[in-house]
Parts: sequence; C-alpha cells; structure tokens
Amino acid sequence: MAQAEVLPEVTKFLEAPKMLIGGKPTEATRGQTFETIDPSTGKSFAEVPRGGVEDIDAAVAAAREAFEDRRWTSLRPGKRTEILYKLGELIKRNMAELSQLEALDAGKPVSLASGEMWVAGDVFRYYAGWPTKFFGETNPSDDNSFIFTLREPVGVCGGIIPWNFPMVMASWKVAPALACGNTIVLKPAEQTPLTALRLAELALEAGVPEGVFNVVTGLGPEAGQALAQHPDVDKIAFTGSTEVGRKILHASEGNLKRVSLELGGKSPNIVFADANLKRATKTSMYGVFSNSGQVCTAGTRILVEKPIHDEFLNSLVEATQSMKLGPPLEEDTGMGPVVSQEQFDRVTGYIEIGKKEGAEVVTGGGPAEGFDGGYYVQPTVFAGVRNDMQIAQEEIFGPVAAVIEVDDVDAAITTANDTMYGLAAAVWTSDISKALRVARGLKAGTVWVNTYGPTDASVSFGGYKQSGFGRELGVHSIETYTQTKSVWVNLK
Ligand code: NAP
Ligand code: MG
Repeated sequence: MAQAEVLPEVTKFLEAPKMLIGGKPTEATRGQTFETIDPSTGKSFAEVPRGGVEDIDAAVAAAREAFEDRRWTSLRPGKRTEILYKLGELIKRNMAELSQLEALDAGKPVSLASGEMWVAGDVFRYYAGWPTKFFGETNPSDDNSFIFTLREPVGVCGGIIPWNFPMVMASWKVAPALACGNTIVLKPAEQTPLTALRLAELALEAGVPEGVFNVVTGLGPEAGQALAQHPDVDKIAFTGSTEVGRKILHASEGNLKRVSLELGGKSPNIVFADANLKRATKTSMYGVFSNSGQVCTAGTRILVEKPIHDEFLNSLVEATQSMKLGPPLEEDTGMGPVVSQEQFDRVTGYIEIGKKEGAEVVTGGGPAEGFDGGYYVQPTVFAGVRNDMQIAQEEIFGPVAAVIEVDDVDAAITTANDTMYGLAAAVWTSDISKALRVARGLKAGTVWVNTYGPTDASVSFGGYKQSGFGRELGVHSIETYTQTKSVWVNLK
C-alpha cells in the first residue's frame, strides 16, 4: 500500500522546532536538545529543545506577567470567543500537517490522527462558546447590603500531558484554561512534543496574546517536576500514569496549588448473552486495540457472560486478525507500533507474564514480525483470564486484551469493580433495565452502554478511585479553571 508523502510544511517544521515562551520561539537556556523518535522505525527524526528548571521559570514568569497585566483576562468576553473559535478553525485548516506530525511522532495511523485533530479543533470551538456564558451570582441580603460573587480565573495554570493523544490532551487543558481567562504553561510528553509546539504557533496566529500560552518541551523529572512544584503556578492539570500522578500531588504541596489528575485505567467491558454480538465484538475490538491499546479508557478486561463466551471469543479473534498492522503513513494501516522501546518492553513483558500466569494466548502473543525496526507488537487476546491475575489488574497500555468469563449480572458487577482503577466501563445488553442497573453499580467515571469509547467536549470525563480526581470537559472544566470571589457592599 502506498505510503503518503511527507508534506513540505512538515519537513520544514521538523528542521528546528522551538519552544514558545512569551510568544517567542525559544531554545533551551542550557542549549540542550533531545531526540524525538519515529516509533515505526525506532529512529530519531527531529531534535527538540530540552527545557529545564530555568525554562520553566521563564515560561511561568511570562505567563504570570501576561496574567497580571490582564492582556487576555480583560478582553471583552466575545473577543476571547472569536480568538478561540479561530484557533479551532486553524487546527481544521492545518489538519493534514498536524495529522502527519502526530502520526510520525506517536506512531499512530494518520487516519486516527486526523480524527484526533478534528476532536481537538472541536474542543476549542466548544470552549470558545463559554467566555460569554459563565456568571457570578447576586446573593440574598437585607436592604443594608449588596452581596455578589465574581467568577474569576485561577491565574497561571500548568498542563502536563501524556503521549497517547498529544493534541487532544493539549486541547483539554488549554481550551478551558484560556476560555476562563487564565494563562498557561504546557509540558507535552517527551515522546510526542511536536503538535503542542505547532498548536502554540497557531494560537498566536489566531490572536492569543504573547505569553498567554507557553510551551516548554523537556523531560518529566526535569521540566515536568519544575512546573508541578513551581511556587507561582496556581493550578496543575495532569494526565498520565497513576505513579507520576502521586508525584505531582507531592510536588504541588509547597504552595497548595489546585491539582486535577486524570490517571490510568483497567476498564471492564461487559458483554451479556443478550447483546447484539456482531456490534459488541467489533466495537470491543476497537475499544481495546485502537491506538495500539494506548488509551487510558481502553476496554482491556472483557467480561463475557458464559453462554456466549466461546462464540464471542471466536469472533473477537477473527476481528483482531483482520486488522492490518503497519506504518502510520500507510493508508490502510489499522494499528501502528507502540510509542517507544520502553513501551515495547513493557507490553511484551506483560504478555510473557500472562503466559506464565496460565492465561491462554488465542491470538497474537508477542512482537510482530516482518517490520524493519520499529516497536510493533501483535494485538494479543488472552482467554481463560482470572481477574486476580497481573494482566487483569495492572495497566499494560498496549494491545493486550484479557477475556474473563462471568456467570451472571452480579458476578459481572463484582468482577468489574474489583480493581484499583475506575476510569471507564461499558455494558452490552438488549435489556435496558439491566443496562441501567449495571451502569449504576459500576464504579467508573464514564459508563458506555452498547458502545465503547466516545467522548465529547460537553461530557464530563474523569476517574473514580485511583484513576484520579477532578472532572474535565463540559462545564466541569469551567468550574475548575475559575474561582469565585464574594463581594460585600455596605449600603448604610
Ligand atoms: P507518565 O510518566 O505519567 O507521563 C505523563 C507526563 O508526565 C509526561 O509529560 C511526563 O514527561 C510527565 N512526567 C513524568 N515524570 C514526571 C515528574 N516526576 N514530574 C512531573 N511530570 C512528570 O506516563 P508515561 O511514562 O508516558 O507512561 C507510563 C505509563 O503511564 C503507561 O505505560 C501507562 O500505563 C500510563 N499512561 C497513562 C495515560 C493516561 O492517559 N491515563 C497516558 C499515558 C501513559 P515525560 O514524557 O518526559 O516522561
Ligand atoms: Mg516521538
């Protein structure tokens, strides 16, 4: 199959990507860089500034200055709407370039990356509507006083994001922060720094004033840590692993900044005997293998009711085998490599653990052959999994499904909830009462019924239990990126 040509604007951008601090393209203070790797070859294809403590200091100072002089906050709310909407449109206009950058950096099929660019643009367009739509309140009072609340931005925000959906994750942090009048410093993942840099350029083009949106590329323990513990940052929004989430929480102690954490998952996808099997199988397959399984909400534990277990398993295997593994820029690629050598080792390591624990590999089962380099792993389905196995309890973050047989509704709910995580869950049934009973019984921030995986800019997203706290998207982000001030006026 034909490999799409790399666009000239992509090649040009890759020559010298720069951080954006105070609206200026910026190298790291110490002049250091790091390489970003194409996961389909394992080779470096661009060098990016390795920002450190000094660069975070500079970016936070720029964001602070921009916040305090009110160059963004004091704009007419309708003007902020115009600018954010324009940014959403610019993402759409530059979709081909952005999709290629993302596909090359993260190893994902370009078709998937284009869908993600649409989502990111949509998030900006959605939050563009908000500046004119949130209010303070007038409080009840006697005739001698007048009391009201102002809804104000929080201040300087920090966003720390992972590599699985780089642009979408950036939009989830940046769009609501800006809609509410904050300024922000964004630290993208070291594996996928490119689209965040391009997004910041587009923001300037859309009219976001200099210093309002800054990007520092660098490593987690350096730039990320410095941002999380910075005394002049008022809020941190983090998406990533539960392990690093804990570190963010500790790092934020110094100035008690607000923290929201979107962490990992081990989401159950329950298929009952009365489900539409054809749809359940196909969607469950995408639910676990989309983006090479590197999805925080991936439906990695597929709980199947006994009477249909074998039939479901057979069709899941068939659907899995029909998916084409290949390089991101090849048009018919259904699944790309995993993002890095580290992820490759982790995922293939877990596959070996699953075999040792006594689960049965029904398809896949290790590295994929036939590629010249790159981090390709076969989509792997384990059957005969018990929920207490490591492969059913730990987040693998790769293309590995664990199929678990369950006896009935009660067993399905108990097994589904038997995890430290609680990000998402799904239930497949043609019985609406059963669907709603199960939805109520599941301890998860999102429950899908007869589908898997959709998100929308207006629908709250976040975790129960150790999948984090705080909700993003919709009105929830407006609440977390603003604070209220009560104003008392004595009329006597
Ligand atoms: P991660 O380490 O949690 O990375 C997320 C972000 O945090 C990255 O920008 C990372 O920078 C940064 N970071 C790392 N250490 C930090 C620190 N001490 N202080 C501040 N920021 C820090 O995730 P990962 O290493 O990319 O992946 C590891 C595992 O996390 C995966 O296997 C998966 O289980 C899970 N994960 C979950 C999600 C999710 O959406 N829930 C997303 C990605 C990964 P660097 O890129 O430089 O490390
Ligand atoms: Mg990369």
